[in-house]
Amino acid sequence: MVPELVGKLTGLGYEVAVEPGAGVEALASDEDYVRAGAVVSPDALAGADLVVSVQPLDPLVIRRLPAGTATMSFLPPAQSLDLVADLRDCGVTSFAMELVPRISRAQSMDALSSQALVAGYRSAVVAAGLLRRFFPLNMTAAGTVPPAEIVVLGAGVAGLQAIATCKRLGAVVKAYDVRAAAAEEIRSMGAQSIDLELETLEGAGGYAREMTEDRAARQRELLTPYIANADALITTAAVPGRQAPMLVTAEMVEQMRPGSVVVDLAAETGGNVEGSVPGKVVRIGNAQVWGGFNVPSQMPAPASKLYAQNIVNLVTLMTVKGEDGGPATFAPDFEDEIVSGSCVTREGHVWHEPTRDLLEGVTP
Ligand code: NAD
Repeated sequence: MVPELVGKLTGLGYEVAVEPGAGVEALASDEDYVRAGAVVSPDALAGADLVVSVQPLDPLVIRRLPAGTATMSFLPPAQSLDLVADLRDCGVTSFAMELVPRISRAQSMDALSSQALVAGYRSAVVAAGLLRRFFPLNMTAAGTVPPAEIVVLGAGVAGLQAIATCKRLGAVVKAYDVRAAAAEEIRSMGAQSIDLELETLEGAGGYAREMTEDRAARQRELLTPYIANADALITTAAVPGRQAPMLVTAEMVEQMRPGSVVVDLAAETGGNVEGSVPGKVVRIGNAQVWGGFNVPSQMPAPASKLYAQNIVNLVTLMTVKGEDGGPATFAPDFEDEIVSGSCVTREGHVWHEPTRDLLEGVTP
């Protein structure tokens, strides 16, 4: 929660308590929270109806929460099965920001999108910072310096933001995505859409489908000349619920020119680029390869502000406002598809079916 949005929650009729130092990483001091109307206390969690955080709570903290308490945070359920079991066993009602349905009504609550936007921008700025040449064309009396050429793989929320930022910095941008709809979106950003003449891979809900190994090999082969010619490569490809697809081998990176840069935003989830390491810059052939690690946190102020706004919007949906300035009631309506879709555990049960199946060892 950022101080500037505390007033939205107190306006609904909530009391807001914040742990000391909670905002330090997001550049907000305890005094900022107090000025905004929050209480700063080491016992902030005591008596809370709802606990909101960015990362999921620690299991030791969960085990101290009274049954019936609600939590709201990022909580990748498939990768957090022990934590989900704790939340279930402690009778905690938990909501995962990853599970907020991607429907128009929930756009203002979509933290995956808001954080992907921040990461996409950051990826372009990192590429520009590491590349020891201009992004834009420069025509000067001393001669002309051509613009940098950037290739972006994956044109979802992060990829489109990376494209837009590279374009604003004046680079020539080419991009590729497996979804049919992406080509038009890439062009609308002023970039060239790379057409590999391969079948498109549209899955459920407008997301990408996983590739077969044959299709992946062919895609890599066809992308090789584009990557070899690029000054910088930015990869942002993901398939929901799966490891990131490996799009670029070390051999492909080795064909890039001296001084080239690779930014792999998917490094944390397996990597789009073979050999990328989350949180590190490694050298592969001639290229510096930057692996993303909790990238939104590298731009803490906007990432926190957008995330806090997503949280406030979701909390508002689940609130019965206090009458005449009276206290608010946190009362999620499980008939609402946003509430129901984002819930992981409730009243001692795992509410989210795919996670329940995983916990119970059911093969889908
Ligand atoms: P994502 O993070 O799951 O994936 C990023 C991109 O990688 C996607 O565009 C995907 O097609 C691409 N990709 C996957 N495998 C690839 C491969 N092998 N090669 C190249 N690219 C590959 O996706 P996202 O950014 O969260 O969004 C994806 C879709 O969801 C988009 O259509 C977006 O417009 C849509 N969306 C809708 C809403 C909404 O309606 N509220 C919100 C956000 C996103």
